[in-house]
Amino acid sequence: MKKLFYLLFAIIFASCASTTKETQIIILSTNDMHAKIKDYAKVAAYVDKVRSENKNVLLISGGDMFTGNPVIDRHEDKGYPMIEIMNKLGYDYGVFGNHEFDYGQNFLAKRIQQANFPLLCANMKVSEQALINQPEPYVIFNLDGIKICILATVQVENINNKLIPDTYPERVQNIDFFQPVETALEYKYLREKCDLFISLSHDGIHEDSILAQKMPELDIIIGGHSHTLVNGMVVNDVLISQTECYLKYIGKTTITLKGTKIIDKKFEIINVAALQDENEEIKALINKYYEETPLKEVIAKTKVNITGKENIGNLMTDAIVSVLNLDIAFQNSGGIRIDTIREGDISLLTIYELDPFDNQVVLFEMNYDEIFSLLKNSYRKTSKYADLKTAGISYTIKAKNGEVADIEIYDTNGNLLDKNKKYKVGMNAYIAAAYKFDHVDAGKTLNILASDALIEYLKQQKEINPKESDRTKIEKLN
Ligand SMILES: [Zn+2]
Repeated sequence: MKKLFYLLFAIIFASCASTTKETQIIILSTNDMHAKIKDYAKVAAYVDKVRSENKNVLLISGGDMFTGNPVIDRHEDKGYPMIEIMNKLGYDYGVFGNHEFDYGQNFLAKRIQQANFPLLCANMKVSEQALINQPEPYVIFNLDGIKICILATVQVENINNKLIPDTYPERVQNIDFFQPVETALEYKYLREKCDLFISLSHDGIHEDSILAQKMPELDIIIGGHSHTLVNGMVVNDVLISQTECYLKYIGKTTITLKGTKIIDKKFEIINVAALQDENEEIKALINKYYEETPLKEVIAKTKVNITGKENIGNLMTDAIVSVLNLDIAFQNSGGIRIDTIREGDISLLTIYELDPFDNQVVLFEMNYDEIFSLLKNSYRKTSKYADLKTAGISYTIKAKNGEVADIEIYDTNGNLLDKNKKYKVGMNAYIAAAYKFDHVDAGKTLNILASDALIEYLKQQKEINPKESDRTKIEKLN
């Protein structure tokens, strides 16, 4: 009898204790890594440390693993090193970012296969003709007695009345996408099935705030896409975070539960630059990929530093004019992604960092007026610079009251450009599509990337010594 009493007591005590037991869940998160692997040795050491000190640690990707580092993006098996490193860190879950589609579905299917962690997404419907499988919209799993649900969504935008993520449209063929917030709202019922309800959203901070407003069922939103540093913002009692981009930060969300009830949730931002320790295995792996990349190949030398958008843009456009035998070429400033080409060896890696966009060159036959209409796009009121860098011409924009009053266009001899001639004009596909200008000729896409035209030019030149020159000027009229 006494024994039975003690047994009963023990059972009651144990069940009371279990409902009041405190549990901590730590979620480490990175978003928008964009293949910038260089800091992964530090991130790995930090993840190791947190795992060694805590029982319940999750590591989550907020999307956009790819696009932004030629060592990964131009690896013969596109993106392979990125997933290899993420596997070694032991990521648990990820969401599709819009840039996950950039390599095409063939490579994406291989990367999904390679990853030891599932990529989730609720707002996409994959048809049978697509090369990837339908992802799970969410997961529910048990961690230390706590039921956790992760619901994932990806950013979309309206392109020609079709919702697609921001990537090359042909790369998302045979996949339908839906508005992420509206989709997430259809999953409100998951609240009943879990203790901790997480939205893993690659939708951007604007959409995340709206989601938090409309869906208080969520406990936290781990965000991405807008490259924003969101240091634990609370909207409608939902804790939102985002770690900017390029592995500059790690997000650390700590959830404390009593029994299965959340009693505290907090977010800390970990500055990766301030971390000292490195995981040696990951460091060696990163070094290996930089060592063995064929992009280290030196293609030419420069006798001087080539610094600034103007000088680098001159080189890029000179290359297009020379290699394709054209009269004039244009390069937009936003497409120039490094500040300096350093004196000495120029490698392929430098060129693909300078121009990572894989834009083909488009050829237009244009007259003077059409060129003039394109150059009107070039004036940037706020920053007072001319956006379009040129070869074959130079030009001066005369601005009055923040508007273009006139443009003087000169040929390479410094004479005013002949108004009665037709010119063969080359520009990258981005300018051709994104800038509004008059052109009777529809344009012809040449089968060469702007970056490859530059590579070809540098290989021909072997050594360059470009002079500083100012082909674009802005003059203010009063
Ligand atoms: Zn994105």
